Amino acid sequence: SAPGKNRKRVLLKLSGEALMGAEPFGIDPSVLDRIATEIKHLVERGVQVGIVIGGGNLFRGEKLAKAGMNRVAGDHMGMLATVMNSLAMQDALERLRVGTRVMSAVSLTGVCEDYDRRFALRFMKAGQVVIFTAGTGNPFFTTDTAACLRGIEIDADVILKATKVDGVYSADPNKDPDAVRYDQLTYNEALQKQLGIMDLTAFCLARDHEKNIRVFNMQKPDALINAVLEESEGTLITC
Ligand code: UDP
Repeated sequence: SAPGKNRKRVLLKLSGEALMGAEPFGIDPSVLDRIATEIKHLVERGVQVGIVIGGGNLFRGEKLAKAGMNRVAGDHMGMLATVMNSLAMQDALERLRVGTRVMSAVSLTGVCEDYDRRFALRFMKAGQVVIFTAGTGNPFFTTDTAACLRGIEIDADVILKATKVDGVYSADPNKDPDAVRYDQLTYNEALQKQLGIMDLTAFCLARDHEKNIRVFNMQKPDALINAVLEESEGTLITC
């Protein structure tokens, strides 16, 4: 399929926990392979895919700081954790013969490339998956913020926030039997109802730049594919 014109471009945010599967820590290779297979399917349909992966399955700066570590040192460890996850995802994609670039917000010579927006766009237009790693490169931010930032920079059609639930609910569906799922919400509704979809830095950044976010369940087979190709699944947050 001809890359470039009229092609959908998406920014997929995977939390570190999404790679954990049933494991208590680290990466479950079978989960990694399943996600990679779904991403491959999208690429084969001509979708341009950028990915931001979190690091919460390995290290979180906030948690390390609570245990006594300097927060900035902890955040640096968290950012490096996202690099480990990104390398694992690149490996899984390349085993499926999907060309993949890892572009980092901090220089890691010999491990991955430096982030460059113009190169990233060229790679995506040529059918390669680009994994944006090391978050924003700054402490005190999250990979949700990195996802919104990169999504805006590459002008993604949508930011896909992969979670463990089927979308955004009025209350925690695991605790409240009356919780209802929203098909669609505005940014203001989500803020008023304090639904806590992302941290506010990330959420307000996406709102201010009028990027739609779709929250969907990554554990549900084919949900990613449907989210992109059918624009169904989960909850769509719009302006
Ligand atoms: N992090 C950071 N700056 C960023 C992105 C991430 O310092 O721009 C650090 C932070 O310590 C964070 C960790 O990396 O806790 C892992 O990222 P995150 O918590 O967003 O991962 P997720 O919850 O998505 O797995």
